[in-house]
Amino acid sequence: MTIEDRLQAEIEARRDDLVRLTQDLIRIPTLNPPGENYREICDYLDTRLRGAGFTTELIRAMGAPGDSDRYPRWNIVARRSGARAGHCVHFNSHIDVVEAGQGWTVDPFGGLLRDGRIYGRGACDMKGGLAASIVAAEAFLATVPDFAGAIEISGTADEESGGFGGVAYLAERGWFSPDRVQHVIIPEPLNKDRICLGHRGVWWAEIETKGEIAHGSMPFLGDCAVRHMGAVIAEMEARLFPALAQKRTEMPVVPEGARHSTLNINSIHGGAADQPDDYTGLPSPCVPDRCRMVIDRRFLIEEDIAEVEAEIHEVLETVRRGRPGFDYDIRELHRVLPTMTDRDAPVVGAVARAVQSVFDREAAYVVSPGTYDQKHIDRIGRLKNCIAYGPGILDLAHKPDEWVGVEDMLQAARVMALALHELLSADNRP
Ligand SMILES: [Zn+2]
Repeated sequence: MTIEDRLQAEIEARRDDLVRLTQDLIRIPTLNPPGENYREICDYLDTRLRGAGFTTELIRAMGAPGDSDRYPRWNIVARRSGARAGHCVHFNSHIDVVEAGQGWTVDPFGGLLRDGRIYGRGACDMKGGLAASIVAAEAFLATVPDFAGAIEISGTADEESGGFGGVAYLAERGWFSPDRVQHVIIPEPLNKDRICLGHRGVWWAEIETKGEIAHGSMPFLGDCAVRHMGAVIAEMEARLFPALAQKRTEMPVVPEGARHSTLNINSIHGGAADQPDDYTGLPSPCVPDRCRMVIDRRFLIEEDIAEVEAEIHEVLETVRRGRPGFDYDIRELHRVLPTMTDRDAPVVGAVARAVQSVFDREAAYVVSPGTYDQKHIDRIGRLKNCIAYGPGILDLAHKPDEWVGVEDMLQAARVMALALHELLSADNRP
């Protein structure tokens, strides 16, 4: 029997266990926000991974955004060292999930298994990937007990809200420094035969237009901030959106539409605050003196963030030149630079060869339209040798009736185990 056959047999023997593990993880509702049950899921993973011979550490991101005694940001890092020195391969999964939302036909936290699929919030994004990486590591340990180097598995908080109480916190404290970790695989749901090299950049900003309050029956006595914002949007429609659609990246971003620069108007608020749905009174007549808009600009590796900012300033200044009384503020909310691992990086090659071997076809290389925790591993940890690879269909993430396929998880686990075998072979000295 080849090592590959033995790994496959070990993984196949764990099919029921993989299903149960995934179901158990889904049944711990780790909703973020607000960040519920992080301790519970870390305790569960702690028991599981100690049982597999890992030493574990639970780390609370004290003082990180969102961390409080009510909603503590717990993370777990587990490590199993081999018989000899070698590289460390780290699987990083986020433990948080987004709200269930409307439209479910099954219990979002029930972990239902039906027709080879496990359903639930977080099934594909990314508790299925976490479970697959654990089973891959356990199967590898059973097959190659005398491996060189180390395997790490982490479960980290808050990826869905920026990762500051999770991977960023750990990276700042050296957990991802290249002297202790050499290869990182993030099992996000990028589809089982694709390797995700990185992601586009993000620039979020809040634009505020100014007006002057007056009685709504005499709007000419005031100045309407919402109309000013309307002029900003009109300028964007006329020139900015068409210009963004012209920009195209060489990054292999999927889906195809995200190969262009994009801008989303995330929210807009002007005038009196919204009342609750059960409020039955009428609004009072006022000219809005303030309007705020949050924009979400996704940019390409070929673009400079200063350019991205300058484009928005140009929109606002163009409006100012043509519109009496126009005044605005702009404030940056968040920025993430694009990141992309080289195709010839060692972890890319190992996973690509494993995909080829399991699926008998070449791996596809993709880049994610949105960001994930690779940004912190790259920018804070300074660790470039990082990819996302995991089971699950990206388009199902955050949707109702999210699911992950059992067969997909088993195949992804085979890929991960084969990659471990290549990266932790005896002659791979650090
Ligand atoms: Zn995710």
